[in-house]
Amino acid sequence: MCCVLYEEAKMTKFYQQCIDCGAIYSNGYVRNCKCGGLLPFRYHSIDLTDFPDQSFGDSPWKYHQVLPLNDLDYALDLGMKKTPFLKSKEIAKEISPDNPMENLYIKVEAVQPTRTFKDREAFMTVSRMRELGYSELVTATTGDSGLAHARACSIAGMKLYIYIPGNARERWERMFDELRSDIDEEYVKVIYSGITFDEAIANAISFAKKSGTPLEYGFYNQLRIEGIKTIGFEVLEDLGRVPDWYVQAVGSGVGLYGFHKACMERYGTAPGLAGIQPKGCAPMVRAFKGYSDPTEKAVDTHVLGIGNPRLYLSYPHLIRAGTVFEYGFSGGKESELKEIPGLLELYHKDGVPDVGLESCTALSGLEHLLKSGVIQPDETVVLMCSGGMRCDLPESLAESIT
Ligand SMILES: [Zn+2]
Repeated sequence: MCCVLYEEAKMTKFYQQCIDCGAIYSNGYVRNCKCGGLLPFRYHSIDLTDFPDQSFGDSPWKYHQVLPLNDLDYALDLGMKKTPFLKSKEIAKEISPDNPMENLYIKVEAVQPTRTFKDREAFMTVSRMRELGYSELVTATTGDSGLAHARACSIAGMKLYIYIPGNARERWERMFDELRSDIDEEYVKVIYSGITFDEAIANAISFAKKSGTPLEYGFYNQLRIEGIKTIGFEVLEDLGRVPDWYVQAVGSGVGLYGFHKACMERYGTAPGLAGIQPKGCAPMVRAFKGYSDPTEKAVDTHVLGIGNPRLYLSYPHLIRAGTVFEYGFSGGKESELKEIPGLLELYHKDGVPDVGLESCTALSGLEHLLKSGVIQPDETVVLMCSGGMRCDLPESLAESIT
Protein backbone atom coordinates (compact mmCIF):
# COMPACT_ATOMS: atom_id res chain seq x y z
CA MET A 1 0.00 0.00 0.00
CA CYS A 2 1.44 3.37 -1.03
CA CYS A 3 1.45 6.39 1.18
CA VAL A 4 -0.38 9.48 -0.07
CA LEU A 5 -0.21 13.25 0.30
CA TYR A 6 -2.04 14.89 3.18
CA GLU A 7 -4.16 16.92 0.74
CA GLU A 8 -5.40 13.71 -0.83
CA ALA A 9 -6.05 12.15 2.59
CA LYS A 10 -8.19 15.17 3.54
CA MET A 11 -10.85 13.88 1.16
CA THR A 12 -11.44 10.96 3.49
CA LYS A 13 -13.05 10.69 6.93
CA PHE A 14 -9.91 9.15 8.43
CA TYR A 15 -6.36 8.26 7.58
CA GLN A 16 -3.38 6.57 9.21
CA GLN A 17 -0.17 8.44 9.92
CA CYS A 18 3.18 6.94 10.86
CA ILE A 19 4.35 8.13 14.28
CA ASP A 20 7.98 7.84 13.17
CA CYS A 21 8.28 9.29 9.65
CA GLY A 22 4.88 11.01 9.22
CA ALA A 23 3.88 9.10 6.07
CA ILE A 24 0.13 9.05 5.48
CA TYR A 25 -2.02 6.13 4.33
CA SER A 26 -5.66 6.71 3.55
CA ASN A 27 -7.16 3.51 2.22
CA GLY A 28 -6.82 -0.25 2.29
CA TYR A 29 -5.67 -2.39 5.20
CA VAL A 30 -2.13 -1.61 6.27
CA ARG A 31 -0.44 -2.78 9.48
CA ASN A 32 2.94 -1.00 9.42
CA CYS A 33 4.44 1.94 7.64
CA LYS A 34 7.08 1.15 5.06
CA CYS A 35 9.62 2.34 7.66
CA GLY A 36 8.16 -0.16 10.16
CA GLY A 37 6.44 2.54 12.25
CA LEU A 38 3.08 2.37 13.99
CA LEU A 39 0.13 3.78 12.03
CA PRO A 40 -2.58 5.11 14.35
CA PHE A 41 -5.85 6.27 12.82
CA ARG A 42 -6.49 10.02 12.69
CA TYR A 43 -9.74 11.87 11.99
CA HIS A 44 -9.97 15.18 10.19
CA SER A 45 -12.64 16.61 12.42
CA ILE A 46 -14.65 15.36 15.34
CA ASP A 47 -18.03 17.07 15.61
CA LEU A 48 -18.65 16.85 19.33
CA THR A 49 -22.11 18.46 19.09
CA ASP A 50 -23.64 15.16 17.97
CA PHE A 51 -21.18 12.94 19.78
CA PRO A 52 -22.07 10.30 20.73
CA ASP A 53 -24.88 9.61 18.26
CA GLN A 54 -27.72 8.58 20.59
CA SER A 55 -29.74 7.13 17.71
CA PHE A 56 -27.49 4.06 18.06
CA GLY A 57 -28.67 3.47 21.64
CA ASP A 58 -26.19 1.47 23.70
CA SER A 59 -24.28 0.05 20.74
CA PRO A 60 -20.60 1.01 20.42
CA TRP A 61 -21.51 2.34 16.97
CA LYS A 62 -22.83 5.42 18.78
CA TYR A 63 -19.19 6.60 18.52
CA HIS A 64 -19.09 6.08 14.74
CA GLN A 65 -17.84 9.63 14.12
CA VAL A 66 -14.43 8.52 15.42
CA LEU A 67 -14.36 4.94 14.20
CA PRO A 68 -12.69 3.97 10.92
CA LEU A 69 -15.70 2.99 8.84
CA ASN A 70 -17.03 5.06 5.94
CA ASP A 71 -20.32 3.31 5.23
CA LEU A 72 -22.42 2.30 8.24
CA ASP A 73 -24.14 -0.36 6.12
CA TYR A 74 -21.04 -2.40 6.94
CA ALA A 75 -21.38 -1.81 10.69
CA LEU A 76 -21.60 -5.28 12.18
CA ASP A 77 -24.06 -5.80 15.04
CA LEU A 78 -22.62 -8.38 17.42
CA GLY A 79 -25.22 -7.70 20.10
CA MET A 80 -22.79 -5.66 22.18
CA LYS A 81 -24.15 -3.18 24.69
CA LYS A 82 -22.66 -0.56 26.95
CA THR A 83 -21.12 -2.41 29.89
CA PRO A 84 -21.61 -1.68 33.62
CA PHE A 85 -19.46 0.94 35.34
CA LEU A 86 -19.63 0.44 39.09
CA LYS A 87 -18.39 2.59 41.93
CA SER A 88 -16.51 0.29 44.28
CA LYS A 89 -17.32 0.25 47.99
CA GLU A 90 -15.75 -2.95 49.25
CA ILE A 91 -12.53 -3.11 47.22
CA ALA A 92 -12.00 0.62 47.84
CA LYS A 93 -12.06 -0.04 51.60
CA GLU A 94 -10.23 -3.33 51.77
CA ILE A 95 -7.19 -2.55 49.65
CA SER A 96 -6.62 0.78 51.36
CA PRO A 97 -7.93 0.25 54.92
CA ASP A 98 -6.28 3.27 56.56
CA ASN A 99 -7.50 5.66 53.94
CA PRO A 100 -10.26 4.16 51.73
CA MET A 101 -10.20 5.04 48.06
CA GLU A 102 -12.76 7.73 47.31
CA ASN A 103 -13.27 7.20 43.61
CA LEU A 104 -12.51 3.68 42.51
CA TYR A 105 -14.62 2.47 39.58
CA ILE A 106 -14.84 -0.95 37.96
CA LYS A 107 -15.62 -1.41 34.26
CA VAL A 108 -17.20 -4.84 33.78
CA GLU A 109 -16.69 -6.53 30.39
CA ALA A 110 -17.71 -10.13 31.15
CA VAL A 111 -21.25 -9.33 29.97
CA GLN A 112 -20.07 -9.09 26.35
CA PRO A 113 -21.20 -11.85 23.94
CA THR A 114 -17.98 -13.89 24.23
CA ARG A 115 -17.44 -12.73 27.84
CA THR A 116 -14.39 -10.51 27.28
CA PHE A 117 -13.55 -7.07 25.91
CA LYS A 118 -12.13 -8.77 22.80
CA ASP A 119 -15.58 -8.43 21.18
CA ARG A 120 -14.78 -4.72 20.93
CA GLU A 121 -11.73 -5.48 18.81
CA ALA A 122 -13.64 -7.93 16.63
CA PHE A 123 -16.63 -5.71 15.80
CA MET A 124 -14.34 -3.02 14.39
CA THR A 125 -11.85 -5.25 12.60
CA VAL A 126 -14.44 -7.41 10.87
CA SER A 127 -16.68 -4.46 9.91
CA ARG A 128 -13.83 -2.57 8.28
CA MET A 129 -12.47 -5.67 6.56
CA ARG A 130 -15.92 -6.29 5.06
CA GLU A 131 -16.09 -2.70 3.89
CA LEU A 132 -12.69 -3.13 2.22
CA GLY A 133 -14.06 -6.15 0.35
CA TYR A 134 -12.16 -8.92 2.10
CA SER A 135 -13.87 -12.29 2.54
CA GLU A 136 -11.11 -13.98 4.59
CA LEU A 137 -8.90 -13.16 7.57
CA VAL A 138 -6.10 -14.90 9.43
CA THR A 139 -5.22 -14.60 13.12
CA ALA A 140 -3.18 -16.27 15.85
CA THR A 141 -4.57 -16.73 19.34
CA THR A 142 -4.43 -18.60 22.63
CA GLY A 143 -8.12 -18.01 23.27
CA ASP A 144 -10.14 -14.88 23.93
CA SER A 145 -9.37 -12.81 20.83
CA GLY A 146 -9.78 -15.86 18.61
CA LEU A 147 -13.21 -16.63 20.04
CA ALA A 148 -14.38 -13.05 19.59
CA HIS A 149 -13.16 -12.90 16.00
CA ALA A 150 -14.55 -16.37 15.19
CA ARG A 151 -18.01 -15.30 16.32
CA ALA A 152 -17.78 -11.95 14.52
CA CYS A 153 -16.61 -13.59 11.28
CA SER A 154 -19.34 -16.21 11.41
CA ILE A 155 -21.97 -13.46 11.85
CA ALA A 156 -20.40 -11.44 9.01
CA GLY A 157 -20.03 -14.46 6.70
CA MET A 158 -16.23 -14.13 6.52
CA LYS A 159 -13.80 -17.02 6.70
CA LEU A 160 -11.33 -16.90 9.61
CA TYR A 161 -8.14 -18.98 9.72
CA ILE A 162 -7.12 -19.32 13.37
CA TYR A 163 -3.57 -20.41 14.26
CA ILE A 164 -3.40 -21.92 17.74
CA PRO A 165 -0.19 -23.17 19.39
CA GLY A 166 -0.07 -26.75 20.62
CA ASN A 167 0.38 -25.62 24.24
CA ALA A 168 -3.00 -23.82 24.12
CA ARG A 169 -4.94 -26.53 22.26
CA GLU A 170 -6.75 -28.00 25.25
CA ARG A 171 -7.65 -24.54 26.56
CA TRP A 172 -8.96 -23.46 23.15
CA GLU A 173 -11.08 -26.59 22.71
CA ARG A 174 -12.73 -26.13 26.09
CA MET A 175 -13.38 -22.45 25.47
CA PHE A 176 -14.69 -23.06 21.96
CA ASP A 177 -17.09 -25.75 23.24
CA GLU A 178 -18.77 -23.16 25.47
CA LEU A 179 -19.57 -21.01 22.45
CA ARG A 180 -20.02 -23.63 19.76
CA SER A 181 -23.76 -23.04 19.43
CA ASP A 182 -23.14 -19.33 18.77
CA ILE A 183 -20.57 -19.82 15.98
CA ASP A 184 -21.12 -21.13 12.45
CA GLU A 185 -18.15 -23.46 12.03
CA GLU A 186 -18.39 -23.23 8.27
CA TYR A 187 -16.58 -19.90 8.60
CA VAL A 188 -13.90 -20.99 11.08
CA LYS A 189 -10.83 -22.98 10.11
CA VAL A 190 -8.70 -23.91 13.13
CA ILE A 191 -5.04 -24.76 12.49
CA TYR A 192 -2.98 -26.13 15.38
CA SER A 193 0.48 -24.93 14.55
CA GLY A 194 3.79 -25.06 16.42
CA ILE A 195 4.08 -25.47 20.18
CA THR A 196 4.41 -21.90 21.50
CA PHE A 197 2.40 -18.77 20.73
CA ASP A 198 5.44 -17.27 18.99
CA GLU A 199 5.56 -20.24 16.61
CA ALA A 200 1.83 -20.01 15.86
CA ILE A 201 2.20 -16.28 15.14
CA ALA A 202 5.14 -16.90 12.78
CA ASN A 203 3.16 -19.55 10.91
CA ALA A 204 0.09 -17.28 10.65
CA ILE A 205 2.28 -14.49 9.25
CA SER A 206 3.80 -16.88 6.73
CA PHE A 207 0.31 -18.09 5.63
CA ALA A 208 -0.88 -14.48 5.31
CA LYS A 209 2.07 -13.58 3.09
CA LYS A 210 1.75 -16.61 0.84
CA SER A 211 -2.03 -16.46 0.44
CA GLY A 212 -2.55 -12.69 0.44
CA THR A 213 -5.04 -13.06 3.32
CA PRO A 214 -4.94 -10.04 5.66
CA LEU A 215 -3.42 -10.70 9.09
CA GLU A 216 -5.70 -9.56 11.89
CA TYR A 217 -3.44 -10.37 14.84
CA GLY A 218 -1.96 -8.09 17.48
CA PHE A 219 -1.20 -4.53 18.47
CA TYR A 220 -0.22 -3.56 14.94
CA ASN A 221 -3.77 -4.23 13.77
CA GLN A 222 -4.81 -0.67 14.54
CA LEU A 223 -8.46 -1.59 14.00
CA ARG A 224 -8.24 -3.42 17.33
CA ILE A 225 -7.14 -0.20 19.02
CA GLU A 226 -10.01 1.73 17.43
CA GLY A 227 -12.57 -0.86 18.53
CA ILE A 228 -11.38 -1.13 22.11
CA LYS A 229 -11.24 2.67 22.29
CA THR A 230 -15.03 2.53 22.80
CA ILE A 231 -14.37 1.41 26.40
CA GLY A 232 -12.72 4.76 26.95
CA PHE A 233 -15.62 6.68 25.42
CA GLU A 234 -18.12 4.84 27.63
CA VAL A 235 -16.07 5.57 30.76
CA LEU A 236 -15.68 9.24 29.80
CA GLU A 237 -19.42 9.51 29.25
CA ASP A 238 -20.19 8.04 32.68
CA LEU A 239 -17.43 9.87 34.54
CA GLY A 240 -17.63 13.18 32.68
CA ARG A 241 -13.86 13.61 32.86
CA VAL A 242 -10.54 11.86 32.30
CA PRO A 243 -9.68 9.66 35.33
CA ASP A 244 -6.34 10.01 37.11
CA TRP A 245 -5.58 6.33 36.46
CA TYR A 246 -6.67 3.48 34.24
CA VAL A 247 -5.46 0.09 35.55
CA GLN A 248 -5.50 -3.03 33.41
CA ALA A 249 -3.75 -6.39 33.06
CA VAL A 250 -1.63 -6.32 29.93
CA GLY A 251 -0.96 -8.81 27.17
CA SER A 252 0.05 -6.67 24.21
CA GLY A 253 -1.46 -3.45 25.61
CA VAL A 254 -4.22 -2.80 23.06
CA GLY A 255 -6.62 -1.92 25.89
CA LEU A 256 -4.28 0.61 27.52
CA TYR A 257 -3.43 2.25 24.23
CA GLY A 258 -7.09 2.41 23.18
CA PHE A 259 -8.11 4.01 26.48
CA HIS A 260 -5.36 6.60 26.15
CA LYS A 261 -6.46 7.38 22.58
CA ALA A 262 -10.09 7.86 23.62
CA CYS A 263 -9.07 10.38 26.31
CA MET A 264 -6.82 12.28 23.89
CA GLU A 265 -9.48 12.44 21.18
CA ARG A 266 -12.31 13.45 23.52
CA TYR A 267 -10.52 15.80 25.96
CA GLY A 268 -6.91 16.16 24.76
CA THR A 269 -5.74 14.97 28.18
CA ALA A 270 -3.86 11.77 28.96
CA PRO A 271 -4.86 9.57 31.93
CA GLY A 272 -2.27 7.79 34.05
CA LEU A 273 -1.93 4.27 32.67
CA ALA A 274 -0.97 1.27 34.78
CA GLY A 275 -0.14 -2.01 33.03
CA ILE A 276 -0.12 -5.08 35.25
CA GLN A 277 1.42 -8.46 34.47
CA PRO A 278 1.52 -11.59 36.67
CA LYS A 279 4.84 -11.84 38.45
CA GLY A 280 5.41 -15.33 37.00
CA CYS A 281 5.44 -13.91 33.45
CA ALA A 282 5.99 -10.17 33.28
CA PRO A 283 8.39 -9.07 30.51
CA MET A 284 7.00 -5.53 30.38
CA VAL A 285 7.33 -5.06 34.13
CA ARG A 286 10.85 -6.42 34.01
CA ALA A 287 11.76 -4.04 31.17
CA PHE A 288 10.19 -1.16 33.13
CA LYS A 289 12.24 -2.08 36.21
CA GLY A 290 15.45 -2.02 34.17
CA TYR A 291 16.23 -5.66 33.40
CA SER A 292 18.57 -5.76 30.40
CA ASP A 293 16.90 -8.96 29.16
CA PRO A 294 13.25 -8.85 30.22
CA THR A 295 12.34 -12.10 28.42
CA GLU A 296 10.98 -14.72 30.82
CA LYS A 297 12.81 -18.03 30.65
CA ALA A 298 9.74 -19.96 31.84
CA VAL A 299 6.05 -19.15 32.14
CA ASP A 300 5.10 -19.57 35.80
CA THR A 301 1.51 -18.32 35.81
CA HIS A 302 -2.08 -19.53 35.53
CA VAL A 303 -2.99 -16.29 33.73
CA LEU A 304 -2.53 -17.85 30.31
CA GLY A 305 -4.54 -15.25 28.40
CA ILE A 306 -1.64 -12.80 28.80
CA GLY A 307 1.18 -15.20 29.62
CA ASN A 308 3.60 -14.45 26.80
CA PRO A 309 7.27 -14.56 27.87
CA ARG A 310 8.50 -12.23 25.10
CA LEU A 311 8.51 -8.44 25.26
CA TYR A 312 5.93 -7.22 22.74
CA LEU A 313 6.82 -4.66 20.09
CA SER A 314 4.11 -2.49 21.64
CA TYR A 315 6.25 -1.80 24.74
CA PRO A 316 7.94 1.45 23.54
CA HIS A 317 4.56 2.81 22.39
CA LEU A 318 3.04 2.14 25.81
CA ILE A 319 6.02 3.83 27.48
CA ARG A 320 5.60 6.82 25.17
CA ALA A 321 1.94 7.03 26.31
CA GLY A 322 3.23 7.31 29.90
CA THR A 323 2.42 3.79 31.15
CA VAL A 324 3.83 2.55 34.43
CA PHE A 325 4.12 -1.22 34.84
CA GLU A 326 3.70 -3.25 38.00
CA TYR A 327 3.54 -6.91 39.06
CA GLY A 328 0.31 -8.61 39.96
CA PHE A 329 0.56 -11.29 42.70
CA SER A 330 3.61 -11.79 44.89
CA GLY A 331 5.06 -14.76 43.00
CA GLY A 332 4.37 -17.45 40.38
CA LYS A 333 1.70 -20.16 40.20
CA GLU A 334 1.85 -21.18 43.86
CA SER A 335 1.36 -17.64 45.12
CA GLU A 336 -1.42 -17.04 42.60
CA LEU A 337 -3.39 -20.01 43.93
CA LYS A 338 -3.20 -18.57 47.45
CA GLU A 339 -4.13 -15.03 46.40
CA ILE A 340 -6.81 -15.61 43.74
CA PRO A 341 -9.71 -16.70 46.03
CA GLY A 342 -9.40 -13.51 48.10
CA LEU A 343 -9.24 -11.29 45.04
CA LEU A 344 -12.29 -12.97 43.51
CA GLU A 345 -14.17 -12.55 46.77
CA LEU A 346 -13.44 -8.83 46.74
CA TYR A 347 -14.90 -8.47 43.24
CA HIS A 348 -17.94 -10.53 44.26
CA LYS A 349 -18.54 -8.28 47.29
CA ASP A 350 -18.60 -5.31 44.93
CA GLY A 351 -21.26 -7.00 42.78
CA VAL A 352 -19.08 -8.37 39.98
CA PRO A 353 -19.96 -12.07 39.71
CA ASP A 354 -17.93 -13.26 36.71
CA VAL A 355 -14.23 -12.41 36.99
CA GLY A 356 -11.27 -13.83 35.08
CA LEU A 357 -7.68 -14.22 36.20
CA GLU A 358 -6.57 -11.16 34.20
CA SER A 359 -8.84 -9.01 36.39
CA CYS A 360 -7.44 -10.61 39.56
CA THR A 361 -3.98 -9.68 38.25
CA ALA A 362 -5.08 -6.08 37.68
CA LEU A 363 -6.54 -5.79 41.19
CA SER A 364 -3.41 -7.23 42.77
CA GLY A 365 -1.29 -4.75 40.81
CA LEU A 366 -3.49 -1.86 41.92
CA GLU A 367 -2.91 -2.92 45.52
CA HIS A 368 0.85 -2.84 44.96
CA LEU A 369 0.69 0.62 43.35
CA LEU A 370 -1.30 1.95 46.31
CA LYS A 371 1.18 0.48 48.79
CA SER A 372 4.15 1.98 46.97
CA GLY A 373 2.43 5.38 46.75
CA VAL A 374 2.38 5.55 42.94
CA ILE A 375 -1.42 5.77 43.14
CA GLN A 376 -2.98 7.83 45.94
CA PRO A 377 -6.27 6.83 47.63
CA ASP A 378 -7.90 10.16 46.77
CA GLU A 379 -7.27 9.78 43.04
CA THR A 380 -9.93 8.70 40.54
CA VAL A 381 -9.09 5.20 39.37
CA VAL A 382 -10.76 2.98 36.76
CA LEU A 383 -10.06 -0.72 37.24
CA MET A 384 -10.65 -2.81 34.13
CA CYS A 385 -12.40 -6.14 34.73
CA SER A 386 -11.73 -7.31 31.20
CA GLY A 387 -13.60 -10.59 31.12
CA GLY A 388 -15.06 -13.65 32.83
CA MET A 389 -13.40 -16.74 34.29
CA ARG A 390 -11.97 -19.19 31.77
CA CYS A 391 -10.78 -22.74 32.35
CA ASP A 392 -7.32 -21.66 33.53
CA LEU A 393 -7.35 -22.87 37.13
CA PRO A 394 -6.64 -26.35 38.51
CA GLU A 395 -10.00 -28.12 38.81
CA SER A 396 -9.82 -28.46 42.59
CA LEU A 397 -9.55 -24.70 43.05
CA ALA A 398 -12.03 -23.92 40.27
CA GLU A 399 -14.66 -26.06 42.00
CA SER A 400 -14.07 -24.49 45.39
CA ILE A 401 -14.53 -20.90 44.20
CA THR A 402 -17.45 -21.27 41.78
ZN1 LIG B 1 7.01 5.58 8.72
